[in-house]
Amino acid sequence: MLSSSPSSRLFSHHSGEASLPAPAASCEINNKSGGEAVIDQEQANEDFLVFFEDLYVELSKFGRVEGLHVVENLGDHLIGHVYCKFSDEEEASDALQVMNGRYYDGRRMEVEYSPVTDFREARCRDYDEDACARGGFCNFLHVKPVPMCLIRSMEEDCEADRIRDQEERRAKEREEKRARKESKKRKRERKERKSSHRSSRSRKRSSSRDRGGAESDDDDRSYSQSP
Ligand SMILES: [Zn+2]
Repeated sequence: MLSSSPSSRLFSHHSGEASLPAPAASCEINNKSGGEAVIDQEQANEDFLVFFEDLYVELSKFGRVEGLHVVENLGDHLIGHVYCKFSDEEEASDALQVMNGRYYDGRRMEVEYSPVTDFREARCRDYDEDACARGGFCNFLHVKPVPMCLIRSMEEDCEADRIRDQEERRAKEREEKRARKESKKRKRERKERKSSHRSSRSRKRSSSRDRGGAESDDDDRSYSQSP
C-alpha cells in the first residue's frame, strides 16, 4: 500500500538517488472572485492520470502489476492511499523495500503490506455507480476510475519492457557462462601445457640421470675395481 496523492514533480529517494521525471503541474486551484477555491477538475483529472501512469511504470519495474488502485476516500485511515497488487510476493517485497521512504513531488511515500487482497469486495459499488450517499468518508474504497485503454496500453508497454529486460539478462548470463567456460578451458590448456612441458623436462632429467647413474655406476665400479 502506498500513501501519496496526485500532483507531482519527481519520484525521488530521500538520499537523492533514483529519480524520474513526473509532470510539473499540480492541481490548479482557481481562487474565483467570491473567495471560494474551485479545483480545475479537468486539470486535476489530467494530473491524476499522469500520476497513475508514473506510478504504474515505476511499480512495473518490480514485476507484473495486477492491479493499481488510487482511492478518493477522505477518512483518516484511507486518505491518500494507493494499492498495488503484484503477481508475486517477492515482487511486492522488492517494491516495498525500494519505494518506502521515496518522495513524489516532495511528499514522502510510506509503503506497507496491505490487508486488502480482494479489491472487488473492498470497493464501494455505490461509488462505482456514482451513487454513494456516504461520500468521501465511506468505509469502502472509492477507487478513482482510470480508462481501460490507458491500463491496457501500459500493461503492454511494461510487459514488452519486462520481456526485453529478461532477454537482455538471459543474454548476459549466457555470455558470462560462455566466458567462464572459455577461461576454464584456457586454464586447463595452460595446465596441460605446463604438465607436458614438465614431464618432457623430467623425462630429459631422468634420462640424463640415467646416464649419470650409469656413469656413477661406472665410477662405482672403477672405484671398486681400484685397489
Ligand atoms: Zn462509498
